Amino acid sequence: MNYTNILQEIYQEIQPYSKMGAPASYIPELQRVNPDRYGICLYTIDRNEYAMGDCDERFSIQSISKVLSLAIGFSRMGDRLWKRIGVEPSGNAFNSIIQLEMEKGIPRNPLINAGALVMTDILLSILSDPEKEYLAFVRQLCGCKDIQYNESMATSERDTGFLNAAIVNMLKYYGNIDNDVERVLSFYFRQCSVEMNCRELSRTFLPFADHTHPFSFGDISLTTSQVKRINAIMQTCGFYDEAGEFSYLVGLPGKSGVGGGIAAICPRKYSVAVWSPRLNAKGNSVMGMKALELLTTKTAISIF
Ligand code: GLN
Repeated sequence: MNYTNILQEIYQEIQPYSKMGAPASYIPELQRVNPDRYGICLYTIDRNEYAMGDCDERFSIQSISKVLSLAIGFSRMGDRLWKRIGVEPSGNAFNSIIQLEMEKGIPRNPLINAGALVMTDILLSILSDPEKEYLAFVRQLCGCKDIQYNESMATSERDTGFLNAAIVNMLKYYGNIDNDVERVLSFYFRQCSVEMNCRELSRTFLPFADHTHPFSFGDISLTTSQVKRINAIMQTCGFYDEAGEFSYLVGLPGKSGVGGGIAAICPRKYSVAVWSPRLNAKGNSVMGMKALELLTTKTAISIF
């Protein structure tokens, strides 16, 4: 497969979309990013890297971090997780609160905000130094020692994070949060503030695609079956109320973030990270989605 040529062709073909959409505006710090950035990196399971565009500039991974939190929680808690969080697609916006009241404080899945806030509460209870251990795991997955939280991003989001605060308070009301509400919010916003570039993000997701190596990083390990289940959750829930559209157009398990990043995997073949800050109305990167749609079309390989 000539991935270098394919990435070049994709870059040409997505140009008509380059001014469509707008960066997330509800987190003030995200507004400082140049909206015209575009980077992509594909990393194969035989460790070949194909990158182009702004693939060395770090950005806020935002909700992509929810997959990494799930990996830690699932590794430590196994199926006991599912007493507190479901595995059904929500069909709602990432920050929706409506369903949560109707379903009495049990979030639909770990990849929407409500689910990730419960996961954050679980991590606070099971890790002895949560911020430090979380970062250590992410650094090991990525193979990069200087991955950091962006503290000003996290603070900026806390200053305007009224809806997330409402969600944790409702979860607490229903008895699905054990720790202090402010503590849950501050750790959650830190996870969202982790910064990576496309090369680093594709490496971070390779273990989810690579079934030939055990998933084991420090004291976090997952069985092949658990990795398969995380991929299933990415496939069905990774794009909120656009999960069906992403499955239909792209056909890979993946996860988006409001920083404009998308990470996706093609099982047993590659992981791919793409970044472009302009988002559609559902909070997913316009050019990122189009690039991945073209990738699976041109390679004629997806999970379907
Ligand atoms: N930090 C963002 C929030 O909680 C993450 C949302 C996202 O990336 N979809 O609203």
